[in-house]
Amino acid sequence: MSEIAEEMRQRPDRGDVATYIPELARADRQAFGIAVIDNAGQIAAAGDCETLFSAQSITKVFTLTLALGMVGDRLWRRVGREPSGNPFNSIVQLELEKGVPRNPFINAGAIAVTDVILSGHQPREALGEILRFMRELAEDPTIAIDEAVAASEKRTGFRNVALANFMKSYGVLDNPVDFTLGVYFHHCAIAMSCRQLAMAGRYLAHEGRNPATGFLVISPERARRINAIMLTCGHYDGSGEFAYRVGLPGKSGVGGGILAIAPGKASIAVWSPGLDAAGNSHLGRIALETLTKRMGWSIFGD
Ligand code: GLU
Repeated sequence: MSEIAEEMRQRPDRGDVATYIPELARADRQAFGIAVIDNAGQIAAAGDCETLFSAQSITKVFTLTLALGMVGDRLWRRVGREPSGNPFNSIVQLELEKGVPRNPFINAGAIAVTDVILSGHQPREALGEILRFMRELAEDPTIAIDEAVAASEKRTGFRNVALANFMKSYGVLDNPVDFTLGVYFHHCAIAMSCRQLAMAGRYLAHEGRNPATGFLVISPERARRINAIMLTCGHYDGSGEFAYRVGLPGKSGVGGGILAIAPGKASIAVWSPGLDAAGNSHLGRIALETLTKRMGWSIFGD
């Protein structure tokens, strides 16, 4: 990990930080962190692996897990499982598909999943539930929401407001749009380090089970399917390129983090805030490509 962190530090190409959420524009473009937790629970980490960053869309893996646990396969009536081939905040497909988003990882799909978690609860309770779940998975009670990021996104999230209203008009959302968006903006604003994120992702590398406690987070079948959706949809319209280069299920966020899963082997988190044109961490992807090559971890073979 130290070797990879050093290689990344020396590269001149870094991508650009997201600016459409003003608070994210403050991130340090030079930062790079990586953390890997293997089967035996051993952690290897380097660079800025303890620095907190905005998890953003990576939290959508955990809200999907929670929602599947709550309503099971009924969730798929609200959201599809196909890659979108469109940017993460695109509204185009919603019109063609009667307000049903293509997958749970584009913004529209994640808003629909959040709405399912919210049903029957107050927004505060739903958010508490999501936060509790993340803390439990990461075995870290300090994980918290960055309120400045949540407020920044709420102030400027006009596109997400449009997506939510569009879905509401088709009856895809059950709760008041403000409530659903409030929970969505706040869970995207959860701040985590690479180490915390890699800890939280362990169940996906171990057939749904927390390898340290043996606790079954989700059934092996669902864990396998979440990994499949991460592989096909986890990097917006850069998902094909990520599968081609890295060969692991992964989910990125516009804060510059990526959670990647080597099934049966390791849970991996990388962070570097500079993004490529599709909105995925530029150095994060390169670091993962380097790692999978050196370790022979691609799910498609060595
Ligand atoms: N909260 C961000 C948004 O809704 C998430 C984007 C992302 O990380 O892909 O735009």
